[in-house]
Amino acid sequence: MTVHVVETAAGCREALEQARGTGRSVGLVPTMGALHAGHVSLMARARAECETVAVSIFVNPLQFGDPDDIAHYPRTLDWDLAVCAEAGVDIVFAPSVTEMYPDWPAPVATTVSVQGVSEGWEGASRPGHFDGVATVVAKLFSIAGPCRAYFGEKDYQQLAVVRQMVADLSLPVSVIGCPIVREPDGLALSSRNVRLSSAERRAAVVLSRALAAGRSLLAQGASTSSTVAEVMRRIVEEEPLVHLDYAVAVGAHDLVAREVMEDPGAVRLLIAADVGPVRLIDNCAGAVEEPVTSSSQVAEGAGASRTDPTLGRQLERIG
Ligand code: AMP
Repeated sequence: MTVHVVETAAGCREALEQARGTGRSVGLVPTMGALHAGHVSLMARARAECETVAVSIFVNPLQFGDPDDIAHYPRTLDWDLAVCAEAGVDIVFAPSVTEMYPDWPAPVATTVSVQGVSEGWEGASRPGHFDGVATVVAKLFSIAGPCRAYFGEKDYQQLAVVRQMVADLSLPVSVIGCPIVREPDGLALSSRNVRLSSAERRAAVVLSRALAAGRSLLAQGASTSSTVAEVMRRIVEEEPLVHLDYAVAVGAHDLVAREVMEDPGAVRLLIAADVGPVRLIDNCAGAVEEPVTSSSQVAEGAGASRTDPTLGRQLERIG
């Protein structure tokens, strides 16, 4: 299975218009590459629900505040194309920075800024981050045209920002949120995990452990967000290699922390921490619906991981 790779916005727009012109539905999976089984789960869902599947691979400079983070962000295009081929993707849109922002590094004159849901948590710790995300996603939606777009709940606040933007701008896109894919020990898959040393990798599991503890407290009837937050904070603080930014219990829709929480089903637990050189984020539903401490069905169903032998063999052929 070969993937059609396009590097220009015009080429991507034309390919997807052509697909819709022949009556095919379009699924779009926006990514920054360095693909892993989390991304593959989105592609698998898109493949199951749409006739033409496009994946975008673009490390968006507008959403990075920290120059060290973007300089070290993994870039693995050959691997990514092999993963997309294996997942049955039809089109990969892999533009350059100047294709997306012709005057780069001059500031982009028109940006998209989503109020409210983008302001706390990641938005507070990474000023400008969600403006960068909303702007690039708006551009990708404009290029792709009417479609279903697949995003991971791993970036829960990002998903909320994208949903808000689509509603407010009446964009012709259905946004689909997909469950978090985890390592067997509970660590949420992330392209940044490859930068962790083995000690940091072992320590990083404390994030999902803290979420699991917060959730079991909710199940036992804990009803104040400060009690749940305090328990999660104490668990993370026992791990010296992990420096907590926030651990909070918030409303699942508005992401606002309310002191009194009556229904765990309406709560989302969010956590963020620095582990060595890497900022990691994770989250889970307040009510038990998916495991936090072991791989979900989706992980197994998704098949590919960075160590998947089939993909490894394919990469050898490419290299
Ligand atoms: P990224 O390449 O990190 O920008 O991620 C691209 C998409 O994949 C986003 O919608 C992420 O939320 C999603 N994603 C990243 N990691 C995971 C994961 N572990 N499980 C599910 N989706 C994920």
